[in-house]
Amino acid sequence: MEGSIVLFGPPGAGKGTQAGRISELTGKPQVSTGDMLREAVSRGTDLGHEAKSFMEAGLLVPDSIIIGLISERLKNDDAAEGVLFDGFPRTIPQAEALAEIVSVEAVISIEVPDDSIVERIVGRRMDPETGEIYHIRFKPPPEEVSMRVVQRKDDTEETVRSRLAAYHEQTAPLAEWYSTKGLLIRIDGNGSIDEVGNSIASKL
Ligand code: ADP
Ligand code: ADP
Repeated sequence: MEGSIVLFGPPGAGKGTQAGRISELTGKPQVSTGDMLREAVSRGTDLGHEAKSFMEAGLLVPDSIIIGLISERLKNDDAAEGVLFDGFPRTIPQAEALAEIVSVEAVISIEVPDDSIVERIVGRRMDPETGEIYHIRFKPPPEEVSMRVVQRKDDTEETVRSRLAAYHEQTAPLAEWYSTKGLLIRIDGNGSIDEVGNSIASKL
């Protein structure tokens, strides 16, 4: 069985932005825990209710919820040849649980300093119809789309600080964990969207 790929990096690093291209290149479907959680919140499921307050506070949702969500998702037929994880795993217990169920073949770490993260997150907008990710400055939506783009509730300067703190405390140690296993591919996330995409493509 072919392995899965993990897209790793701080919030706003550009994981979701690059996922489409990598998914096309590798044929692996994108599995974003953030998107799955937002969908559960908007549908008002029990899981959504449980996750909502953590997400709004910029805290990680408990591992048990996330691992349950991923285990269910991986039962789908489209996951048989591996998937592209976006925003998962985010803690060492999540990575340990993942290692029990799939083989990870590469971890692409998109590295962006905290100073740039705040600007990227606060300027992020999403097209609710297509799911396309935009940025008011770095990737402005076309005029016909600009009227309908929305800002995520947790994309405020205040919440970004908590999310970055959670990243440094709970998620960043995973880079070392994967590096020890020889799986970590470091990518400079500071270039333009195309430059970062080319740099990832050249490593795959
Ligand atoms: P993540 O999925 O890692 O949280 P996103 O892909 O949603 O990050 O990107 C966060 C924001 O930064 C979005 O508004 C996106 O348009 C923008 N962005 C992504 N990559 C770049 C880049 N290389 N340069 C400038 N802005 C970027
Ligand atoms: P970003 O890349 O901008 O941080 P995500 O869409 O990946 O945004 O995640 C949004 C929120 O969903 C996170 O702040 C967190 O509360 C929750 N979340 C997503 N994925 C995970 C995960 N693997 N573990 C714990 N919480 C998660």
